[in-house]
Amino acid sequence: MTPSFSTYLVNDPFGDPGLYVEVKWARRALLFDLGQNDALGPTRLLRAGEIFVSHTHMDHFIGFDRVLRVALGRGKTLRLFGPPGLIANVTGKLRGYTWNLVDGYPLAIEVKEFHPQEVRSATFLATEGFAPREASPRPRSDLSPARPFLVLEDPMFAVRAIALNHRIPSFAYALQEQFHVNINKERLHAAGLPVGSWLKELKQHLWQGQPDDFRFTASLYFEHRREEREFQLGEVRDRFVTITRGQKIAYVVDARYDDENEAKIVELAQGADIFYCEAPYLERDADKAKERYHLTAHQAGLMARKAGARELVVFHFSPRYTGQGEAIRREARAAFEDLLPASLSPGGRGEGEGGI
Ligand SMILES: [Zn+2]
Ligand SMILES: [Zn+2]
Repeated sequence: MTPSFSTYLVNDPFGDPGLYVEVKWARRALLFDLGQNDALGPTRLLRAGEIFVSHTHMDHFIGFDRVLRVALGRGKTLRLFGPPGLIANVTGKLRGYTWNLVDGYPLAIEVKEFHPQEVRSATFLATEGFAPREASPRPRSDLSPARPFLVLEDPMFAVRAIALNHRIPSFAYALQEQFHVNINKERLHAAGLPVGSWLKELKQHLWQGQPDDFRFTASLYFEHRREEREFQLGEVRDRFVTITRGQKIAYVVDARYDDENEAKIVELAQGADIFYCEAPYLERDADKAKERYHLTAHQAGLMARKAGARELVVFHFSPRYTGQGEAIRREARAAFEDLLPASLSPGGRGEGEGGI
């Protein structure tokens, strides 16, 4: 199976947190968090039209300016999603500059913040000097704060979030492909059909849930000619497509290790193909981690195992461990793969207490 999302961290694990997700074949990307993001060139930054912010501590939000700078002259809508306070933070950022010469610029910024009871949204247009236009709050239909809630739904994927306790709400996110469309290229070849952009159209129709008798016309590019051909969706699907489970990516940063956070994280990351989890501390400094509302590598590994994640990537390491990145990764891996020394096994010690 060729995955639909390719994902990578914006910085090395000691740098500011951020996850870049490329949606294959769509010239589109999603960005989780807005820490320092110089490592992403302008083309990549521009491609990220939807940005999911965990919270607005500086290391997660300082990169807003760069996104703004790159997008400024473009006819583009930037969409930001995040916890309560995000609209005020974006307003504050935008007020930090003078906007008297941007009235011809077509950039729009839409911000949605998710409160326990309602969703608030605001739009900022360059043509209006980015003065905030707030819409009336919309009541939330999913009033179960302990369950992941829908932040963005697209024909191809959904993004859900959950609010974790970081002494302020810190949103963790899960990106879930609705289902995966596998094209059997050998069968295509045997039927004398070329690969090409028509397969992208085919996938779109499937993700949009079009009925079996839906007909579409696509351009097929053969070696020396182009041909328009009409297809019936159900028939093409039965001949060339296998539908499998969609890819799932989880992103968790800045949260204290406690029962409530753990239950939420484990549910959010359930069955993730890749679980990106912060691990700023080693377990020997678990008391420090708890005091600072952060996780240890051991805790990250434990939760990844409980969630049944297929792969764990730890990051957001504290600079106090500079040069010890491998030790952090090793500790997380040991908990994830259940290779624990008895002193560290779950129940073998009090939750988050003391050193080892
Ligand atoms: Zn933080
Ligand atoms: Zn942080």
